[in-house]
Amino acid sequence: MTDPGMKCSRCKEPARHRFRQHNARFCDPCLEIFFLRQVEKAIEKYAMLTPGQRVLVAVSGGKDSLALWQALIKLGYQAEGLHLKLELGDFSGVSLDSSREMARRLGSPLHVFALSDLAGCTVEEAARANRRQFCSVCGTLKRYYLNRLALELGAPAVATGHHLDDETGRLLGNLIHGHAHHLERQWPVLAEGPGLARKVKPLCRLGADEIRAYAKAHDLPVAQGSCRHSKGATLPYYQEAMRLLEQKMPGTKLDFYLGFLRAKAGPPAADAPDGVCVVCGAPTHVEVCGACRLVRRAFERRQRLAEEAAAAAAAGDEAQA
Ligand code: AMP
Ligand code: ZN
Repeated sequence: MTDPGMKCSRCKEPARHRFRQHNARFCDPCLEIFFLRQVEKAIEKYAMLTPGQRVLVAVSGGKDSLALWQALIKLGYQAEGLHLKLELGDFSGVSLDSSREMARRLGSPLHVFALSDLAGCTVEEAARANRRQFCSVCGTLKRYYLNRLALELGAPAVATGHHLDDETGRLLGNLIHGHAHHLERQWPVLAEGPGLARKVKPLCRLGADEIRAYAKAHDLPVAQGSCRHSKGATLPYYQEAMRLLEQKMPGTKLDFYLGFLRAKAGPPAADAPDGVCVVCGAPTHVEVCGACRLVRRAFERRQRLAEEAAAAAAAGDEAQA
């Protein structure tokens, strides 16, 4: 969406990027200034981090988390990467390679953990055993282990690469379905509490197109491909609806999101569950937390399958005798 002869809105040199939502055109160096300013603005406005603070960046290997990691380092934060190996086929291997390459470029530590080692079962086993939408099971387990690892690694905050398209898609879905609790808690920062690490989304003011342009301008080692389970997700439908509105009326996404945040009295109160999970000790409103329930059902299913296989083998032996 760029025209030859287009000039940068800031420096008047030839521009490579055009963002209609800001009525702006940028060359690569001015895109960098714009991008870092947007991240800084989000961090300051919502008091996400203190200057130079240590922060764990949840790195998937996609453009969003790689761009976020680089931006936080450039802004002077001690940003370390944390990658969860999800073991979902070739894409997971590519994602880890991208995360490692980015760590090498930045000269920053990358902490890597396999979800199956942490949970004792794979995401696929958990999804099958619970008969729930794959992305929802994967999301619950990822959030749970990112939080736990942040606490174990002593990091005061976890940053994720969620951006404006993620937040407006989620907001539209929550409004359509009247998810009052989610609307109440939707905010770019979730405060820390006992057993809960602080969660921040410093890319919340930037759209996927702006992040893509930044990743391209820096030739970031972005993992190519997509998760083999992503087809079942519903968020892309809401994002598609937002994209259509944005295309017809540039600036709609930012207006929608910032307007929603402005209408709130302030950040939601820190989540303060009244109990702890009897299995893992994490804060929860119920006896066994959501992640432990998912894992427990995966173990139960594994045991049932083993018993059925043993019974079938015994029946086969008897028939042969
Ligand atoms: P997604 O839910 O896949 O759209 O990812 C949203 C954000 O979660 C990413 O931008 C990352 O910050 C984080 N994330 C997703 N997958 C992983 C992973 N395997 N390891 C660490 N962080 C992840
Ligand atoms: Zn638990």
